[in-house]
Amino acid sequence: MIPLVDLKKQYASIAEEIGDGLSRVLTSSQYILGEEVIKFEEEFAEYLEVGYVIGVGSGTEALHLSLVEAGIGAGDEVIVPANTYIATALGVSYTGATPVFVDINEDTFNIDSTALKGLVTEKTKAIIPVHLYGQSADMDEVMAIAGECGLTVIEDACQAHGARYKDKRVGGFGRSSSFSFFPGKNLGAYGDGGAIATNDPEVIERLKALRNYGQKEKYHHDVIGFNSRLDSMQAAVLRVKLRRMDGWNKLRREAAKLYTSILGDKVMTPALKGDRDHVFHIYAVRVAERDRVLKELNGAGIGAGIHYPLPLHLQQCYRGLGYRKGDFPVTERIAGEELSLPIFPEIDEASIHTVAETLLKAL
Ligand SMILES: *Cc1c(COP(=O)(O)O)cnc(C)c1O
Repeated sequence: MIPLVDLKKQYASIAEEIGDGLSRVLTSSQYILGEEVIKFEEEFAEYLEVGYVIGVGSGTEALHLSLVEAGIGAGDEVIVPANTYIATALGVSYTGATPVFVDINEDTFNIDSTALKGLVTEKTKAIIPVHLYGQSADMDEVMAIAGECGLTVIEDACQAHGARYKDKRVGGFGRSSSFSFFPGKNLGAYGDGGAIATNDPEVIERLKALRNYGQKEKYHHDVIGFNSRLDSMQAAVLRVKLRRMDGWNKLRREAAKLYTSILGDKVMTPALKGDRDHVFHIYAVRVAERDRVLKELNGAGIGAGIHYPLPLHLQQCYRGLGYRKGDFPVTERIAGEELSLPIFPEIDEASIHTVAETLLKAL
């Protein structure tokens, strides 16, 4: 059996340090927003090369709070790629605003910036570029269009911890950016968790109040806030893992390189852009007869997957927006062809060979 993601090997390699971190929290009795959270926020801000980070309850809540902070609400429109995880659009919907979907590029799977301008109306307030699968969106183009049209940029960096675009880490481009620490992400907690990064001190002050019942001073609530906080146990885990993440991302890149060297001439492997790097949260190939191939791989004990089988504009929960099949041809084509192969830092070369050979056989 070769799983899509294996979290057990990684835990075994850091178990002692994790245990120390957790017992530090347990004996401190600071379980919410304690010392560990403050330290993690500082360390992650330094890592991302941004001014500030705050920990929140999840990546979904990071997106929601970021949009509320930017003043997005009912009657507003926010542009979101049709090919992403549902949470990108849910954050918009929670505010009362409407997600407006945009197609993606055939090669990078990321937001098609040439299609952006045509979607901007008087109601459009923001764009959420998603750094999908671990590779940055084209941020020069996104930022230029946002500047021209007066739109706020909120990055969804939930799959791209540590990725760079032109030597700058993703997460430092928009008004703010959202990260998820769902266990399977490149930086994963042992439970739910998320963070928001920004360079703007006023943005961070508002976000700090928003995640904590809208209070700046205890029992004084200036705005309708939320209860969305990273807990100290997860922060202690994340501090241990953050120190190793660059090494783990390097191992992911090496695994991806080996896959591509074996599959390169027979399968559409991920396009690497010279001006950005890729942290391979997901190693996505495109194949014909994807569903049959997936079944064969699964039957051979290989945990391949699909990201994502049903585009956002065709989800039942968004049927009220009036989209139809055919609206976003690239997204729809990729939904039928994308295949995610097992990737995690600890995957060994023999497993990569097995996966690649089984895939070639199935084709
Ligand atoms: C994981 C993910 C999220 C949501 O994060 P959670 O922590 O699971 O709420 C949002 N956007 C993208 C692109 C993701 O991959």
